[in-house]
Amino acid sequence: MADVIRLMSDALANQIAAGEVIQRPASVVKELVENSVDAGADEITVNIKDAGRTLVQVIDNGCGMSPSDARMSFERHATSKIYTSDDLFCICTKGFRGEALASIAAVAEVELKTRREEDSIGTQIIINGSQFVGQNPVSTTVGTNFSVKNLFFNVPARRKFLKANSTELQHIITEFQRIVLTHPSISFSLYHNGTLIYNLPQSNIKQRIINVFGKNLNQELIPVEIDTSIVKITGFTGKPTATKKRSDKEYFFVNNRFMKSQYFHKAVALAYENLVRPDCIPPYFLYFEVDPHSIDVNVHPTKTEINFENGSDVFRLLQAGIRETLSKSNVAPAIDFDSESDDIEVPYFPKDAPIPPMPKVNFNPFYNPFETNQSSSSGGYQQHNDDGERQRHNIDNWQQLYSGNESLTEDLSFASHESSFAPKVENRLIQIKNKYIVSPSKSGIMIIDQRRAHKRVLYQKYIEKVDANVDSVQTLLYPITLNLDVTSFAMAFDIRDEFQVVGFDIEFNEDNSIIINGIPPFLSEDSATEVINDIIDSYKEGHGNVSTSIKDILAIAAANREVIPYGKALSPEEMRQLIDSLFATNEPNFSPEGDPEIVIVGLDEIEKRFS
Ligand code: ADP
Ligand code: MG
Repeated sequence: MADVIRLMSDALANQIAAGEVIQRPASVVKELVENSVDAGADEITVNIKDAGRTLVQVIDNGCGMSPSDARMSFERHATSKIYTSDDLFCICTKGFRGEALASIAAVAEVELKTRREEDSIGTQIIINGSQFVGQNPVSTTVGTNFSVKNLFFNVPARRKFLKANSTELQHIITEFQRIVLTHPSISFSLYHNGTLIYNLPQSNIKQRIINVFGKNLNQELIPVEIDTSIVKITGFTGKPTATKKRSDKEYFFVNNRFMKSQYFHKAVALAYENLVRPDCIPPYFLYFEVDPHSIDVNVHPTKTEINFENGSDVFRLLQAGIRETLSKSNVAPAIDFDSESDDIEVPYFPKDAPIPPMPKVNFNPFYNPFETNQSSSSGGYQQHNDDGERQRHNIDNWQQLYSGNESLTEDLSFASHESSFAPKVENRLIQIKNKYIVSPSKSGIMIIDQRRAHKRVLYQKYIEKVDANVDSVQTLLYPITLNLDVTSFAMAFDIRDEFQVVGFDIEFNEDNSIIINGIPPFLSEDSATEVINDIIDSYKEGHGNVSTSIKDILAIAAANREVIPYGKALSPEEMRQLIDSLFATNEPNFSPEGDPEIVIVGLDEIEKRFS
């Protein structure tokens, strides 16, 4: 048999490499802008069309390239940045792998115009899908101008894989922010379809952060300065009061390179322990300077994960350093809060915790355990009439979940077979620490978290209200002005119709602020801005359908307003009603935020404990 192994063509090899380096338009922005930074530019302009599908153009006033370097730059492994393998362990530039331009040119139509200061005429090069089209002298300003058109024109599978324009634009903005936050001495501008999104003049780090994220942040930042022999950490961290639920402003940079790190994030979170609620993360912008030999940035093609030689030391220094910064700035003791107090103990859902699987069981909402005749309707929650088939199906599922029970009525053994309530039944509901309701059940013991259960009941009520209240507005006597950062403003504008439908009356100003003139009828005025921020965040994070998540957030906010606290004593009648209403909801097992509401301790478990 003949030999079968052949070398791939360069074009094919580049296309495969492009799969790793160039995932979406944002990757092109990142690679080109980083090249401009490496080229020593102090002014960089980014032009985007159609979220980068049609055009990503980056213009810089950096060192430019000679005609032969311009041609060479598209070759795979062509780099001016490292010469020996030693250099690989001492990386001071953004790029060094020499594969970005080759990869981009493999999957797009690229035009390069470049000129060095010493050359009187510049060079133009055109390459389409790795095919060299031409090289010509051209008159152009000093620096480099890359236009990347029709990304993935020759890789339809990739093109199809791109998300909605708003999502791709969000990715571009995210990459752009990561770079501009490390180079305040470079002025940057970003245009999308001709509209200026960012215009960032040369400044210092703090001013740059504020120019990027909005002036609201100005009062919130505490300077950080941690100087040790292993690492120097500077930058800013948020006052604990600045903490909102889901901060999207968590930035680590190492030797001026953005780094993702859950590990160091944990160190910061520990420094804030007992100062903020555990689900709240303050904004932070922390710049590490370390000996380049002590880190490995080469672990991932997009280089956002970085290995540290002495990571655990850095962890400890970071945690202690931030803690000290907070106590020195007098923010720590003033708001130290008592985690024992029931009032502030809000059930939370940690950001990085695995999302519990959507439970599949639907309880029959029309079932009344206090009635022998299940088809009659006397419960307050029997608003709908459903067909018996579905009811039976739901009951079957329910029984499967809490298996070992012949009938639902027997399982929920606090329920009576009488149509009125027998006192002996009520006595079988016990409240523990004014927090949990406990009831014996045939398969063991059922424990219900009273606050979460109540939240689920209220949530259900408000979800229905949100749907019913389409377009009705509660006009505010004193409109509220909210300053947003550029991205949030763009996102809010994007979903202005969805805001309106649920009852927000919002005006958009040119300075990225919004004026809230009206809010949905059941929302409280003081929760309005938080709810709006939550809605924008959720849209940014791309949590599915916008209008569904808006309704969700509104219903949760309204429920939080009324929910009974832990520590509230409940009468037997109140407990019974709560449990009834809970089982009448679509989802009695989990609170709207995804926390468990019911725990069943099975007989097996109990027997095991006694063995
Ligand atoms: P890397 O950045 O890893 O070296 P790239 O493929 O991104 O690899 O770029 C290849 C080379 O092209 C760079 O090393 C640099 O010499 C040159 N180059 C790319 N972009 C520019 C630019 N904007 N200005 C000057 N030279 C550039
Ligand atoms: Mg590069």
